[in-house]
Amino acid sequence: MQINLISDTVTRPTPGMLDAMMSAKVGDDVFKNDPSVNALEDKVADYFGMEAALFFPSGTMTNQTAIKLHTQPGEQLICDKYAHVYNYEGGGVSFNSGVSCKLVDGQRGMMTAEQVEESINPPDFYHSPLTSLVCIENTTNKGGGACWDFEELKKIRKVCDDHGLKYHLDGARLWNALVAKNEDPKAYGALFDTISVCFSKGLGCPVGSVLVGDQKLIDAALRVRKILGGGMRQSGYLAAAGIYALEHHIDRLSQDHERAKAIGKVLNTLEFIKKVEPIETNIIIFELDESKLTSTDFLAKLQENQISIIGMGQGKLRIVTHLDYADAMHQHFLGVLQKIG
Ligand SMILES: *Cc1c(COP(=O)(O)O)cnc(C)c1O
Repeated sequence: MQINLISDTVTRPTPGMLDAMMSAKVGDDVFKNDPSVNALEDKVADYFGMEAALFFPSGTMTNQTAIKLHTQPGEQLICDKYAHVYNYEGGGVSFNSGVSCKLVDGQRGMMTAEQVEESINPPDFYHSPLTSLVCIENTTNKGGGACWDFEELKKIRKVCDDHGLKYHLDGARLWNALVAKNEDPKAYGALFDTISVCFSKGLGCPVGSVLVGDQKLIDAALRVRKILGGGMRQSGYLAAAGIYALEHHIDRLSQDHERAKAIGKVLNTLEFIKKVEPIETNIIIFELDESKLTSTDFLAKLQENQISIIGMGQGKLRIVTHLDYADAMHQHFLGVLQKIG
């Protein structure tokens, strides 16, 4: 039994999803003639109560497109030091948009409205880059799947309004936050200028992300997507997977969250574990007491049992639960952990 917990991106389509993909009606989406892509875009826009949406090959491309739409070269965006847009998009912020990042020293990938406001450069002080955008991430990836307090997100909206800044949400795992906190997606739609969501994380889809916003922004996003090489043809096969995931794989995320918490509980009983970060969704970040067991030895012992997890740097390890992590694997993994300890 192979157990892959390095990321929730490893999930594969279920038989039901594959059926939906195989029977999808498709057209040429570069001509906007693919009925399945159009249906997915309508569905996601409605879900957030926003005007329009656009299907993309990746979450990196949706984020990069949003940043391009909201900024001009030379300007600056504000984000947490853990942000995916800063750490894991290959420097695309500067490559694609000519923009720099003001990094905020937040908690588990989340910053306060006060920290955001302090990070804004005075607009008349022409020596500094002009601040034009705030990017937040929910749930936070490097922050261990943490969920924002919606009240803080509203306070940041107010800061953005007071200072004329745009507000983008990297919601690669927003589904997990919505399920964990029982929140209304339309409340998010009402708060942000753009939202990016991923279908390729714990939902089983092979690829796909969607950017949501008002009609004018999404019209402009179509051109940016084209320039980035993200126009796809019969992508309805992929969009059909997204539609299936929206209908069948969102509510079940609570199972991933429960299993993650159960893993955390066991980790906390092991004497070679130094610290387990709080677990709110499907990501577990923890540290070993290397004087008792080194990360290298721990990973090797897991590998002997066909279990893969991943290092996050600075001595931190990460486990991510997902659709393809079934109950039998869960019981096996908990047993292996207890044997190591
Ligand atoms: C996965 C992820 C993305 C998108 O990454 P892709 O690999 O391009 O799909 C964006 N933001 C966060 C927080 C992510 O975890």
